[in-house]
Amino acid sequence: MKRLPEKVRRLIRQKDGPQTQELVLHPGKFGLGQIPARLEPDDTTTLVCGFCSTGCGLKAHLRKGEAINLSADPDYPVNLGMACPKGWEALTPLRAHDRATTPLLRNRASGRLESIDWEGALILFCERLKEIKRAHGPESVAFLSTGQIVTEEMAFLGALFKFGMGFLHCDSNTRQCMATSHVAYKQSFGFDAPPYTYADFEQSDVLIFVGSNPCIAHPIMWQRVMQNSRNPTIIVIDPRKTETAMAATIHLPIRPKSDLMLLYGLAKILVDEGWINRSYIDTHTEDFNQFATFLEKLSLSEVAARSGISLTQLRQVAKVIHEGECVSFWWTMGVNQGHEATRTAQAIINLALMTGNIGRPGTGANSITGQCNAMGSRLFANVTSLLGGHDFASAQDRTKIAQLLQIQQSAIPTQDSWPYDRIIEGIKEGKIKALWIIATNSAHSWVDHDDLKRAFRKLDFLVVQDMFTTTETAELADLILPAAGWGEKDGTFINSERRIGLVKKVARAPGVALSDFKIFRLIAHYWGCGPQFSRWSSPEAVFELLKEASRNQPCDFSGIESYAHLDRCGGIQWPYRSHDTLDNNERRLFVDGKFFTANQHARFLFAEPVSPPETPDLEFPLWLLSGRGTSSQWHSQSRTAKSDVLRKLYPEHLYVEVNPVDAKKLGIDSGLRVMVSTRRGSLTATAFVTSTVSPGSIFLPMHYPEVNRLTIAVFDLHSRQPSYKACAARLEV
Ligand code: SF4
Repeated sequence: MKRLPEKVRRLIRQKDGPQTQELVLHPGKFGLGQIPARLEPDDTTTLVCGFCSTGCGLKAHLRKGEAINLSADPDYPVNLGMACPKGWEALTPLRAHDRATTPLLRNRASGRLESIDWEGALILFCERLKEIKRAHGPESVAFLSTGQIVTEEMAFLGALFKFGMGFLHCDSNTRQCMATSHVAYKQSFGFDAPPYTYADFEQSDVLIFVGSNPCIAHPIMWQRVMQNSRNPTIIVIDPRKTETAMAATIHLPIRPKSDLMLLYGLAKILVDEGWINRSYIDTHTEDFNQFATFLEKLSLSEVAARSGISLTQLRQVAKVIHEGECVSFWWTMGVNQGHEATRTAQAIINLALMTGNIGRPGTGANSITGQCNAMGSRLFANVTSLLGGHDFASAQDRTKIAQLLQIQQSAIPTQDSWPYDRIIEGIKEGKIKALWIIATNSAHSWVDHDDLKRAFRKLDFLVVQDMFTTTETAELADLILPAAGWGEKDGTFINSERRIGLVKKVARAPGVALSDFKIFRLIAHYWGCGPQFSRWSSPEAVFELLKEASRNQPCDFSGIESYAHLDRCGGIQWPYRSHDTLDNNERRLFVDGKFFTANQHARFLFAEPVSPPETPDLEFPLWLLSGRGTSSQWHSQSRTAKSDVLRKLYPEHLYVEVNPVDAKKLGIDSGLRVMVSTRRGSLTATAFVTSTVSPGSIFLPMHYPEVNRLTIAVFDLHSRQPSYKACAARLEV
């Protein structure tokens, strides 16, 4: 076996050691401003939360250089001293019993995972992938990554995989939550650019939430709404009477997946009544006349019939939009996870543009992101766009990035990777033979996951790089690479309002687990492309490269001096160019009405609404909706289920919400075990009879492992995001 250079051996030996050691190695890393140059034992430091995209600032209280507790940071501009239960409990999963503490290799004979050292694991990893590449070509290996690791790691992974190892196909679990917003913004605004700042929650006099339940999904954003002193009108468009709908002024309980139709109906009323901002449209947009012509053909009675919302209510909502001085539109997964999601998101954007509700305080067409670093993934993961929101297909962009990274331009692919669903299809077709999964739990979270698990079993080599050994995906792995989690490593996240926030190491990873960053460095070495990544020596060194990659892009943050600068300021939103000063740390985009398209005009984009591919019928007569359960649960629960405190805050077992009308028809009472089936499979759940769902619909919370056995593999045409929100189901006692 090849002898390793001393610096690599040191990297392995060093693992994610005590924080004090790191700080001595890098004095001043967190220095300047609020944080002392060297953390002393029993000190306090600040870092951004690692669950959702709100990006709250937390204070880590340290003893001997390690965090023993957390509290909400009162000075951070995002959360102003508030945190949801997940944030308060964020340290607990780090101490879970099922942490991956050493590399594990499956013994083919016994089927058991057995411990192996890092050197053996990484040599095997590289040899197996090289062997598969030699036999089947560079398109035979793929990775699926995450919106949960720091931007520097995402960028490293994408660059290593594509430019160093010479592979092509990769995607991220952000495909499941934010791909629609990414594509919608890119097409409408010319760049993936959520335009708002959280101050807009406080400055609107009308807030419209479409398929969004911030009360539990983004509770701290909802607290910002609660701080709005303008007595705003809050409108919720959602098939369920969610916690947010209950708190709203007006709730439109639309029929599942009639959102696009309803939004066009509102646009038609606004045009017909002349309630549009002609001067804004003429000066700052294009293709409005085509949109207006399209709307002429729309029948409002059909809109009412399809959506289940009366014409009177539609007119009432249109009037509220017209009379609002500062109207903001917000959407989340109810929009993004649909069969015509991109056009639905753009229908919301169209409403903001045609009424001139953008670029001013309290306005905007605002997509609320899901995961803590989904925005980092969208711009810097090197998956669907080249670093910094550049385009793989553009020779000019490839030249810029090749020069910056000091690599051959030919190392940069000229085409996009396959999206997630195509990668799964590629496995089924036998084209993809090896898959590397980093910090995501596909076997829980992907649609129709029994089908996905069958596909994974066909792989020649499945590698899972994760904090835990017990996720549904890790249980299928041939090789597990143990990774440090949030709080055990350094880097940055980008939150929903484009704020780059700092994440720090405040705890030591267990066993010989390493940060994803160090794992990527080691893989570069064992693969033989280490010298190509010699400048990728630390997260902050990569941050410097990413600053340069962003230069002259809309997301330009080349003016951020250092990690310490971020720390001092409470995070900084992009853009922040080299000549910028931070007079205001809550900034929105498009104040000047100039968008990122070639002619600086935003585009009206639209399409004829179509029915979902699967709708209720005689065999499966109900709509099945799925979504978030409580603010104490996070996605596939690999972390939140580890906290005794959080577990007390949500139901232990899977439940299904059933309307009283359907419950009576089927003889169901709350507490009864019932069977829920779709064309993909069945599960049992405890019935919860409630009017939160309308007659004809049932709801399952997404966090329980069996739920995605039922969901359907249908995808939006433009974003390839799965449609989790509606399929046909049956309920039986
Ligand atoms: Fe963390 Fe999101 Fe909760 Fe804030 S709202 S504490 S970012 S999980």
